[in-house]
Amino acid sequence: MAKVNPEFATEIKKYGAHDFNACFNCGNCTATCSLSDNTNSFPRKLVRYSVLGLESEIEASLDPWLCYYCGECSTTCPREANPGELMMSLRRWLTAKYDWTGLSGLLYKYLPFTISAFLATALAVILFAFSKSFEIETIMHFGHQFEMWAIISVFTIILIPNLARMWWFVILKPKIKVKFLTYVKGMQELFTHMFTQKRTLGCDDSQSRWLIHLIIVFGYLSLLFTTVVLDWFGTSSLFIILLGYAESIVLFTLTFIFVRGRIKKNKELNKFSQPSDWLFVIWLFLMAFSAFLVRIFIDLDLIETNLWLYLFHLTILVQWAVLIVPFGKWTHFLYRSFAMYFEKIKQTA
Ligand code: SF4
Ligand code: SF4
Repeated sequence: MAKVNPEFATEIKKYGAHDFNACFNCGNCTATCSLSDNTNSFPRKLVRYSVLGLESEIEASLDPWLCYYCGECSTTCPREANPGELMMSLRRWLTAKYDWTGLSGLLYKYLPFTISAFLATALAVILFAFSKSFEIETIMHFGHQFEMWAIISVFTIILIPNLARMWWFVILKPKIKVKFLTYVKGMQELFTHMFTQKRTLGCDDSQSRWLIHLIIVFGYLSLLFTTVVLDWFGTSSLFIILLGYAESIVLFTLTFIFVRGRIKKNKELNKFSQPSDWLFVIWLFLMAFSAFLVRIFIDLDLIETNLWLYLFHLTILVQWAVLIVPFGKWTHFLYRSFAMYFEKIKQTA
């Protein structure tokens, strides 16, 4: 029997949804959404679930992850119920639901908690630098080690257990019987979506958003590889130095376009930015831009007299690695890809 949570509407509003109760079930959004078909009334079904507070149906649903927020449903809704923004809010709510630590929910719902967490990490970086007598070489060595350990720790302690919880909610708890071979065969779907982001193409009539999205994903992953594995700040290889410059320029230029779009509210998906949306694009921009400046200062032999710049970069990096990647919007990249994988598995089963 479906579990009804009468407080669900109040709860989901804390994640950014608003006005969805105005829905009078006309079906315009379903007629508009390219993800709708005979079997799935997209996104109207989730609007109804939310209005009725059908929490267990929502937590077992993959639909919020399949939506890439083209915003067409919101544009055509006669009641201004903003179904596109509701889908975005449900993604935030699901992120909090999957997160075993509970920190995602706190960061999404309470701005003072988010500000405190960011200030605390900045203070931790400054105290660490103080404990090392502001010795640039030691701090930069730590920064490089931190990147490697942060990736391993965040994946093993936070993200893998959270993916297991997602699996529990969408496959195991609803008692969907899946053969082991189905999981193996579905892996192709997982990697295809992770590295092509091709779901965006099915939703957005503007192909440029898909392309920019894809370049940002590759720019981010390759800059991560260049700094962590190829030691961009420590290398003397001209090829690696130029590679890092190129990757960081691509990344901060494209993320700047995203930040500008959110300021201008130039698309439906930019109209209702939440703090988590701002933090994601601004921190990605700052990370790439400050990394670019640090490498310039290294090349000009200015970094030793400008430790503040590296400390600024390290602070952004630490906040990105311990707050935004495990608990913020970064996780959407992972959950979207796994949603496509689980969806394929469910269909096959
Ligand atoms: S278009 Fe608006 S009012 Fe109509 S079903 Fe969709 S959300 Fe409800
Ligand atoms: S934002 Fe686009 S993909 Fe998402 S539910 Fe609305 S119309 Fe469909």
